[in-house]
Amino acid sequence: MKPVPWRYVKSWGCIACGACCRGFDVVLGYKEWVDIVRRFGIEATQPGVTKLYLRKRIDGSCIFLSKLYGTCLCTLQRMKPRACKLWPFKIYTQPKYGKLAQALYSSNGRKLFIYVDPLCKGITWGNPTQDFIEGTLNEFIEIALGLSEKQYHTTAKLETPMFSQRHFALRRRF
Ligand code: SF4
Ligand code: SF4
Repeated sequence: MKPVPWRYVKSWGCIACGACCRGFDVVLGYKEWVDIVRRFGIEATQPGVTKLYLRKRIDGSCIFLSKLYGTCLCTLQRMKPRACKLWPFKIYTQPKYGKLAQALYSSNGRKLFIYVDPLCKGITWGNPTQDFIEGTLNEFIEIALGLSEKQYHTTAKLETPMFSQRHFALRRRF
């Protein structure tokens, strides 16, 4: 499905359905790849022709996806790749998917073109609320521009320290 301009998004909140952690390729920046390899081993990643990726299971899900009481969890939380942090928003300096006026976001003299993947179940469609623009969207933009790494509005806030390295180490043994 074609990405939709942000002007059609009333608000967004991750419901931890895990849909974005299944069937997608997660591209890693070089530093992200180095950090993950150092901590989890090279088998946690997958080389492509020109890019590096997180490894997926045979069913297409990310190896760091876990479930607790029916809720999907990312066990890579503290090292979550930028590609995952930005999902489902796509932030460009050019109007990549058309609808220029609806995709345009202007701030401090900077022009960006922002779209959202309609596959995400956390989207509420409608006119954007101030809370969404000033909180969620602003945080996505700061992460995309490399101005911030922290997530408050842009995550399901389900961090579980008990999952993480130990969980992954156990998985690797079986
Ligand atoms: S970002 Fe969207 S698709 Fe991914 S887990 Fe959250 S609600 Fe589901
Ligand atoms: S690293 Fe986490 S958020 Fe990214 S695809 Fe894997 S489980 Fe999902």
